[in-house]
Amino acid sequence: MNAYFAEANGQLGGDPEPRATGEPRYRLLVDNMEEGVVFHDELGVIRSCNPSAERILQVSANRLLGRRSVLELCDPVKEDGAAFSLDQCPALESLRTGRSQHGVVIGIRRPSGTHWIALTSHPLSTAEGHRAGVVTSFRDITALRERERQQASRTREAYNSVRLHDEFLATAAHELRTPLTALQLQMQTLLRGARNAPVPAGDPLHPKLMAGLRQTERLSTLIDLLLDVSQMTTGRLELKRARMNLAQLVQDVVARHADAIAAANVTVTLELQPVFGAWDASRLDQVVSNLLSNALKYGRGEPVVISVRESDGVALLSVKDGGLGIAPEHQARIFERFERAHPDAGKSGLGLGLWIMREIVEAHRGRVELASELGQGSTFTIHLPPEHGTLTP
Ligand code: ADP
Repeated sequence: MNAYFAEANGQLGGDPEPRATGEPRYRLLVDNMEEGVVFHDELGVIRSCNPSAERILQVSANRLLGRRSVLELCDPVKEDGAAFSLDQCPALESLRTGRSQHGVVIGIRRPSGTHWIALTSHPLSTAEGHRAGVVTSFRDITALRERERQQASRTREAYNSVRLHDEFLATAAHELRTPLTALQLQMQTLLRGARNAPVPAGDPLHPKLMAGLRQTERLSTLIDLLLDVSQMTTGRLELKRARMNLAQLVQDVVARHADAIAAANVTVTLELQPVFGAWDASRLDQVVSNLLSNALKYGRGEPVVISVRESDGVALLSVKDGGLGIAPEHQARIFERFERAHPDAGKSGLGLGLWIMREIVEAHRGRVELASELGQGSTFTIHLPPEHGTLTP
């Protein structure tokens, strides 16, 4: 250290001001340090300390000098609240073992609350290798710990509120489902004409009942979406795998959507090869229904092509439309929850369908691929491994 100062003075040479050099400069440096510094001699007695040590420990130098440990004057505790024995004082430990002690955290109880300090002790040796004492530096980490505590509490609160939100979603969806199912059943019964009093197709009530039923079906779809989201968010998506033909499933879904296809005035072409695998039929039904509904919704009435084929041992299902397309910057985002790419297109939706679809596909160890150009249309391709078995009948 002295050699360094001597060298620095040489380089700065010619300075007319009298400056502290050697020992006084060293003292100046230690006295102005933000950290507290305490020096124990080779017998373990405190021989010097700097002003920061007095400030942090709130003890005068007079009371510190001559003692065996800075901890003698406080009521030290460990991080778990247990008393800190003076034998464990890092300076004395360092003197005993000849090894440095790093970042030992000690709490000092004061009327205003516990203050936390982190201490590091290094053994010192003479040029001949004899023990010369120990230097201990420390800083007050109370404010830092308080910030960490507040951060942890905010994280906990955020976690709890997300959990509450998920639980609320699950309960609300579940509770809404029950009366809605009852209402749907009653309307269907009315339409079918219970007790030999059918509502004839020509009756002015008929279209109203049909419209009411359609609304309950929409509500029911939305509630199912929310139930799916809460189930998938909490990692409770369980697949019921059974061997099935993907091409057959596509045919069934398209047949079921015949009214919607006709209403959208869209030509749907099927290019299907029989491809088999052990998949969850009702979940894949959801995937195909969602892709088809989106193709009708965002497809601007252009033809839609759905194909099923096998390639390199993987089943490929793709739905291609010639509609709005998706700009490159939105293509990853739309697979996240509540994300939409065409908020101004006048199409209603929650932005959950693609997220649910991706969860289902990934639960099958598959993946979703999107090729799209804005204004030119989109092709969504699902890659599904067959899982235990072959893709052929
Ligand atoms: P929703 O249709 O309820 O908004 P989705 O999760 O199914 O939710 O889709 C997310 C968004 O991705 C849609 O809002 C739309 O902007 C975009 N998108 C989905 N499918 C298509 C498609 N075939 N063509 C163009 N954009 C699409």
